[in-house]
Amino acid sequence: MSDPFFQPVSGFDLPRFAGVPTFMRLPHVPLDHGRIGEVEVGLIGAPWDSGTTNRPGPRHGPRQLRDQSTMIRAEHGVSGIRPFEAANCADLGDVGPNPADIGDTLDRMRDFYAAVRKAGIRPLTAGGDHLCSLPILRGLAEEPLAMVHFDSHTDLFHSYFGGRMYTHGTPFRRAIEEELLDPKRVVQIGIRGTAYDKEDREFAASVGVRVIPIEEFFDRGVADVMSEAREIVGGSRTYVSYDIDFVDPAFAPGTGTPEVGGPNSFQALEVCRHLHGLDIVGADMVEVSPPFDPTGNTAWLGVSIMFELLCAMVSRSPSGSGAGSS
Ligand code: MN
Ligand code: MN
Repeated sequence: MSDPFFQPVSGFDLPRFAGVPTFMRLPHVPLDHGRIGEVEVGLIGAPWDSGTTNRPGPRHGPRQLRDQSTMIRAEHGVSGIRPFEAANCADLGDVGPNPADIGDTLDRMRDFYAAVRKAGIRPLTAGGDHLCSLPILRGLAEEPLAMVHFDSHTDLFHSYFGGRMYTHGTPFRRAIEEELLDPKRVVQIGIRGTAYDKEDREFAASVGVRVIPIEEFFDRGVADVMSEAREIVGGSRTYVSYDIDFVDPAFAPGTGTPEVGGPNSFQALEVCRHLHGLDIVGADMVEVSPPFDPTGNTAWLGVSIMFELLCAMVSRSPSGSGAGSS
């Protein structure tokens, strides 16, 4: 049965506008906490955006996402999944960056996520910009992982102002080079917008990454596209990376690199419902930028997507026997 310690604070016990905000009102269980060994899914803030090349702000994402997440209730409205009963979930706090040093922060984050992995915890991260996914993968990947990636951008570029660079446009190029990802089991969905050139798409084609541009997404529909995505990752250990700029800026304006002509907020949730049953070892929601999100609506969509990802993560037990009920 579910442990009361790991249940979120109910809105019937303390109103949702009261109290110290943790992700989804879960208990705060940092890595040195006595009950860390019982946590199965850890919600983590990654307040870092030093990989941003244009409009910054996602370093403020975890605070706003935590605040908005106090509106999340216990049960999924469609599937009926109650994720906080299916698995022990907790807010592990933030992984602390060094805002003055990209290399040092990459190492700090890698070490943090390696400790999370060794504790047997699957992380669900709130960024932060998309460079955060690279040190997360460095900490998690003991072997090349599969990945389902929602984004307007491939983030497969090699360079920025020359040379081998670490920005939010390069994380998955680096991750493939470092064999953290198996490119033939990577699918990128929603790609669109103007570009400098085709370097990223040519790299994707050369290594076997499947890119599904937005035109194909709308022509085929969510169910058909996600069916192919499930085939690509199959039964592999899979990471899910979700850039909020996948969603049309009419619904998610609070991000640094918006691209028009994207999915609506319903489709943004719906794609996650096709991830159920996959072997998801971790997931992230990145690029929510509070300075561009004065209404909080982008963060609200971001945490609503995080809840969908959480339901997908607990829909498969670690033994692979289907619906989780640990
Ligand atoms: Mn991205
Ligand atoms: Mn993007």
